[in-house]
Amino acid sequence: MAERRKAVALISGGLDSMLAAKVVIEEGVHVEGLNFFTGFCVEGHTHAIRNPDHTKPKRNNALWSAEQLGIKLHIVDISAQYKDIVLNPKHGYGAHLNPCLDCKIFMVDQARTWGFMEENGFDFIVTGEVVGQRPKSQRRDTMPLIARESGAKDRLLRPLTALNLPPTLPEREGWVNREHLFGFHGRNRKPQIDLAARFGFEGFAQPAGGCCFLTDEKYSAKLADLWHARGERDYSLDDIMLLKVGRHLRPAGHFKVIVARDDGENNFLEGYRKQFIHLRIDSHQGPLTLIDGRPSFADIELAARIAARYGQGRDADLVHVSAHHPNGVVETLAITPIAPHQIPDAWHV
Ligand code: SF4
Repeated sequence: MAERRKAVALISGGLDSMLAAKVVIEEGVHVEGLNFFTGFCVEGHTHAIRNPDHTKPKRNNALWSAEQLGIKLHIVDISAQYKDIVLNPKHGYGAHLNPCLDCKIFMVDQARTWGFMEENGFDFIVTGEVVGQRPKSQRRDTMPLIARESGAKDRLLRPLTALNLPPTLPEREGWVNREHLFGFHGRNRKPQIDLAARFGFEGFAQPAGGCCFLTDEKYSAKLADLWHARGERDYSLDDIMLLKVGRHLRPAGHFKVIVARDDGENNFLEGYRKQFIHLRIDSHQGPLTLIDGRPSFADIELAARIAARYGQGRDADLVHVSAHHPNGVVETLAITPIAPHQIPDAWHV
């Protein structure tokens, strides 16, 4: 009996990676999923915080995909190594600070290193890439580049678009039948939707902006602002988590105000309050607010006036706010909320 081959499938939580894995499973290959945590993922707890639809249960789409496929999912934290990709992408950025091409190469390389280790023993890698789907990373000329630079070479199979590419090792060796693979190309989603229906998949995620926050214009602007304010291109995991949450206003280069927008964000920011000066509105209901940077007393007062603008005392003459410093000192302030016209657009990061 022929040996059963093993493939590791990159699972992002979106439809394409789920379909690609399913196509290979249907070929009788043993497939396991691999999901990478970069820190910028839309998935996970930040997705849950920002889920505006409280009627829908929150879920991790990568785990959900694996459950639908009936496969094991390995979630691997690559956030530390990924930093170099974000800071120094060899192939540059996409429309925003998304280093998609370097990111793909890196992820396939990581999958190769992890999957081809003797103890894991996978034979090839599967991705849901489609020629022409993304202008920067999924083009006909970038497909071989990803295969080559990742080191996966012809052990990288893209079942959804394989017919647009030369046959890979799994096809040549008959581990999968090329005639059962697809030639999807371009941005039209209909072929994927039809294939999902054929496999009986329902309720899958269709994120508009891609798999991570780096494709988001506003998020990228906040990251660029952080680098500019600090005078260096660097970040910690806490930095990039905080950029996903709250209203960010920068009245001056040396400090920024982060105001929670709802209960979920309030709870999230609570976890960071000891690292920052944080403001609580004592006389009215209002958001928890963090101050990032080195604010003077006048800056803290201004931050308190901004925070009060987003609380229920926004029209009051006087609002009491307490400023809690990381060293335990608490200042109490009585301020007038800032008027909307006194908040220039340029403050909004
Ligand atoms: S959208 Fe993000 S995770 Fe996806 S390829 Fe681009 S940089 Fe990587």
